[in-house]
Amino acid sequence: MTTDTTQSLPATLIDSFGRRVDYIRLSVTDRCDFRCVYCMTEEMEFLPRSEVLSLEELYLVAQAFTELGVNKIRLTGGEPLVRNNVMSLIERLGRLDGLRELLLTTNGAQLEKYAAPLHKAGVNRINISIDSLNAERFQRISRVGRLDRVLAGIEAARAQGFDRIRLNAVIMKSYNEDEVLALTDYALSRELDIAFIEEMPLGNASDHDRESTVCSNDWVREQLEQHYELIASAAKTAGPSRYYQVAGRGSRIGFISPVSHNFCADCNRVRVTVEGRLLLCLGNEHSVDLRAVLREQGGGVEALKQAIVAAMSLKPERHYFYDKDHVQPVRLMNMTGG
Ligand code: SAM
Ligand code: SF4
Repeated sequence: MTTDTTQSLPATLIDSFGRRVDYIRLSVTDRCDFRCVYCMTEEMEFLPRSEVLSLEELYLVAQAFTELGVNKIRLTGGEPLVRNNVMSLIERLGRLDGLRELLLTTNGAQLEKYAAPLHKAGVNRINISIDSLNAERFQRISRVGRLDRVLAGIEAARAQGFDRIRLNAVIMKSYNEDEVLALTDYALSRELDIAFIEEMPLGNASDHDRESTVCSNDWVREQLEQHYELIASAAKTAGPSRYYQVAGRGSRIGFISPVSHNFCADCNRVRVTVEGRLLLCLGNEHSVDLRAVLREQGGGVEALKQAIVAAMSLKPERHYFYDKDHVQPVRLMNMTGG
């Protein structure tokens, strides 16, 4: 006789601070075709294949979360589009019951090939990272990336009619702080959204000292306000982002400011690394090993759901980036899932 464990599980995920978790960021690979200075070291060692969740395991994790009320999944990495056969996973996720939004964050280098199949598979929105419009500088920041590929990728995405396309730019002193306006003009002229992201101290950056390059979004916003009228937007994203509408334009400008501002009280998300580690907070190490639930304990979706519900009590109240009294995460962003 089997015991029905589902009845004791809640329909939604609530943590011990009363926050509802309805959004996951699912990392589908730790690998990437770029080596951005703020995200990776130059010589990276990636996970052996045996430690990485299979596409089927990633699907089961996504299914378990949606059965617990998660209605928004962002696929990330590493670079999600370098994962072998990733489209087969995305097509299945696009048909998952209960999922309201399927999102993807990409470096854009392969969007010429993938924009159409992604749209067809039901991806609603895409974020494309671009930190410079100058080819040489773009290569300095990404170490190996090519700007022309990304620009072509952006055009390919625009041609598909996604609900929204947002550009992501990490602004860093002595790298690209003089491009805030150029990047914004580029986005506005194409009716794209753009978000500025503060560099987070996730692992050690090998080419620079993060504390000397981190650039506050208050400063970025002041630069923009000299040229544009920014109107605080009603768009609520429940996270560290705040959006502004540019007067008379269709684009929104977002400021993702986990370093200078703390919006943890609104946090609605958790992350799953490609090793199957459920991270309860970007800036803390609290985690639960979902791969062990799947492989060592031989569990399926129900066992995953129980582990996920139990994990909610571990979600910390907040992070403490650049605070010397608190331990900083050692994970690099490609492992964390941006
Ligand atoms: N490869 C994809 C991309 O670059 O968009 C997806 C993964 S990447 C880790 C997701 C986002 O995290 C990117 O927009 C990237 O700029 C950002 N990111 C990476 N490392 C970061 C850091 N240390 N601080 C802030 N943002 C970071
Ligand atoms: Fe790759 Fe994205 Fe990290 Fe750049 S930010 S190295 S593109 S995973």
